[in-house]
Amino acid sequence: MSIQELDKEYVANTYGRFPVTLVSGKGAKVVDENGKEYTDLGTGIAVNVFGVADDEWIKAVTEQLGKIHHTSNLFYSEPCAKLAETLCKRTGMKKVFFSNSGAEANETAVKVARKYAAEKKGAEYNTVITLKNSFHGRTISMLAATGQDTFHKDFLPLTEGFVYAEANNIDDVKRLVSENKVAAIMFETVQGEGGVLPLEKDFVEAIAEIGKKEDILLIVDEVQTGNGRCGALYNYMNYGITPDIVTTAKGIGGGLPLGLAMLGEKVKDTLKPGDHGSTFGGNPVACAGALSIVSRIDDTLLAEVREKSKYIFDSFNGADGVKSVSGAGLMIGIECEKDVAEVLSACREKGVIAIKAKNKVRLLPPLNITWDELKAAVEVLLEAMNNE
Ligand SMILES: *Cc1c(COP(=O)(O)O)cnc(C)c1O
Repeated sequence: MSIQELDKEYVANTYGRFPVTLVSGKGAKVVDENGKEYTDLGTGIAVNVFGVADDEWIKAVTEQLGKIHHTSNLFYSEPCAKLAETLCKRTGMKKVFFSNSGAEANETAVKVARKYAAEKKGAEYNTVITLKNSFHGRTISMLAATGQDTFHKDFLPLTEGFVYAEANNIDDVKRLVSENKVAAIMFETVQGEGGVLPLEKDFVEAIAEIGKKEDILLIVDEVQTGNGRCGALYNYMNYGITPDIVTTAKGIGGGLPLGLAMLGEKVKDTLKPGDHGSTFGGNPVACAGALSIVSRIDDTLLAEVREKSKYIFDSFNGADGVKSVSGAGLMIGIECEKDVAEVLSACREKGVIAIKAKNKVRLLPPLNITWDELKAAVEVLLEAMNNE
């Protein structure tokens, strides 16, 4: 059997995979089993921040592999402590809890918020407001947090205590605050799976205001938007707000599974020994790789991300066959007149990989994609979207 046949026979049928088997690559280039080369604008869903086979990341990971690859959280280990220090110094957050995925990072955030609210105001203050059209992960609780019915059906009953406000409608948030005993408000600054839709600045500022006034915690889900993706280390920084909890995963590990929740001043000591844990969380190899990623997301790289972003927006805005362009930094959604699957397939034919979000072509290129690679890929995309 071919790899694709084997997979269809033995791997749980949960993914609509592209008919491509990737085997290797370098930077923004990936190669399939037939030796065909593609420019990768999907980066394994915003994970491969510096593309594939990144030398510095490989060095950091393999050096750590040769020392000790796992310790459990019964012991101290250097990469985990250093990564936490780096993240806190660069964000102003106070402590970090490490896990392995975005969903788990968000689970941590909700546990912290409920404990904080219970201690501060009473156990009945356990509701978490999230937004309609959001995506927060696939566990039963994070499905509950996800404000999209399509993800809920077939999996009921979900965890209680989540209500959904309309994005960019502050009156709807206020209504839910008055009708519920609220512990936290959780949101993505750009709704990724929801169609690459950024929240309006006024709306985010108004949520932050409510949070401060009512002592309702602000949880920002930066699983996809974070780690340089949107032109700042974390995209909440572009909104000028100070969250109480920031979660991330995807890009932070540069390709190894790593998720984390950063805890601000109010909640830095909410979790006590025994309250939460993870066997693999803070794995030394994943954290050593993450340190190499985060240390290179500097002002120079972020300026480049913003420049490349502007180039992509300018290229697609008003182009033939393009209905709309949305997003932030190098997290961009393009709504086309043609069917999205057709556009993606035409692009693959010409050696460009992009992914989708709802009915849009979604671009998540490596942050260090070269200008030549980017320009050539944009030409291919424009041609595939063109109606003639
Ligand atoms: C991908 C994603 C998640 C879930 O992350 P997993 O690592 O798949 O659990 C959560 N929130 C957002 C915003 C995401 O994009």
